[in-house]
Amino acid sequence: MAKKLQQQRRLLLKGIAASAITPWAVKADSVANPDVVIIGAGIAGLEAAKTLHKKGISFLIVEANNRIGGRIHTNNKIFGVPFDTHAHWMRASPDNPLISHGRSNGFDIYRDYGRQQYFVGNRQATTEEMTDLWKTDALFNKRIRSSALSGVTGSDDNARTALGEDFFSQPWGYTVASEYGVWDMAQDSKDWSPKSWWNSLDAETWFCAEGYGSVAAHYGRAIPVSLATAAREIDWSGDHVVVTTSAGQIRARAAILTVSVGVLAAERIKFTPTLPVEKQEAINAIDMAVMNYIGLLFSEDVFGFGSDSYVYQQQTDETGVGYLTNTKNSNLTYGYVGGSQAKALERESMDTVIAYGLDGIKSMLGNDVENRFLKGFATACGKIPLFDGAYSAVRPGKSGARAILGRTLAKKLFFAGEATHGTQASTVNGGLESGRDSANQAAAYIKLNS
Ligand SMILES: Cc1cc2nc3c(=O)[nH]c(=O)nc-3n(C[C@H](O)[C@H](O)[C@H](O)COP(=O)(O)OP(=O)(O)OC[C@H]3O[C@@H](n4cnc5c(N)ncnc54)[C@H](O)[C@@H]3O)c2cc1C
Repeated sequence: MAKKLQQQRRLLLKGIAASAITPWAVKADSVANPDVVIIGAGIAGLEAAKTLHKKGISFLIVEANNRIGGRIHTNNKIFGVPFDTHAHWMRASPDNPLISHGRSNGFDIYRDYGRQQYFVGNRQATTEEMTDLWKTDALFNKRIRSSALSGVTGSDDNARTALGEDFFSQPWGYTVASEYGVWDMAQDSKDWSPKSWWNSLDAETWFCAEGYGSVAAHYGRAIPVSLATAAREIDWSGDHVVVTTSAGQIRARAAILTVSVGVLAAERIKFTPTLPVEKQEAINAIDMAVMNYIGLLFSEDVFGFGSDSYVYQQQTDETGVGYLTNTKNSNLTYGYVGGSQAKALERESMDTVIAYGLDGIKSMLGNDVENRFLKGFATACGKIPLFDGAYSAVRPGKSGARAILGRTLAKKLFFAGEATHGTQASTVNGGLESGRDSANQAAAYIKLNS
């Protein structure tokens, strides 16, 4: 018991120490036993904290990692220039507070104009080939739309079936399928659902020269967070929620859980009582897709297409690499791989993966490009136990699972995080909105029962 008290005291001290440098007034006795405990300081948890703070509800936020931001993080050390290891594209729709926050705090936020260049082997595509590409793109949209709107409730082909095998025998079939599939949703076309793709919001995108992760860290910098504090068990059996963490127990009137669906599926947190069957089924119906970056730093803009240009080579399957080149004129290229190929590459060494990314560029520009190559780095988000993958991907035919995952239990255990969002799942925006919504509901519950 003494140890437990000491641990609670440690949580208390951490909370107060962090809040002392900020305007976040936290009553000492409410930190160890807050109104609301938030689990996870990714964007959902940070936004939940901001929302509760505005409403005068006390909270404690615990984060297993030694930093905030979760799946939004910028690393400046690897290349000496900003490298986003997870989210990089800032989606603007319908609004994104991180974009306005970045702008008003001096970050260099600039538009992604989607400048694309296509190669066939080691040369750029001709005008005729480009016309053919746009026709294939139109066919893709027609077939996916028709499948998504087929109207039969509960029926949902996978994208491969919806597109048909004749689509993949066209010269640009695999390229177009890769752009929408493995390089965006991080799933092979046999695995993604046209219905959920169709129902997700489109958005224009922006970049931040200092990195998306830098903006997120700045956005959450004033929030008192107990870092390196992992939730191990959530007991929601009584009138309070008791969370056992690696640093002691927290008793709160409500909890907001923001960990990824991958963490839930791996049962890294024990629930007492166990989760209802429908909740467990929803967790099992949503996969964590894997998307990884192969960062490649050159001594110059090797393609010569200018800043932030996309380069795609005609593909013959879904194992290829897409490239965003020369980000903000830093000579850093993001190669991206998704789906089953990303999972396969996670079993290889870092050197092998870097060579895979570099080979794709060599096959377009020639072997000499290696003379201008300085350094590479490959991410492996499927191997990070705090995430277990990149972002959620609902299985075809299971689109109702997100709503069930997001359902509150016993009026006081709230489920947030990107995977619970109906139209913006798998994005920063979805995580942020889910955190805000859950916090509003938790605040209403606390006020009603005060
Ligand atoms: C490679 C990659 C590329 C992406 N690209 C984009 C993009 O370009 N644009 C975009 O909008 N989105 C992108 N995303 C998705 C986006 O990053 C996520 O949807 C979003 O950041 C999720 O936020 P979240 O708060 O829901 O979850 P998380 O960020 O996962 O936050 C949950 C937090 O819980 C913590 N945690 C886990 N277990 C415990 C525990 N037991 N106790 C306490 N804390 C715990 C985790 O450490 C984490 O900090 C990308 C993701 C990846 C991985």
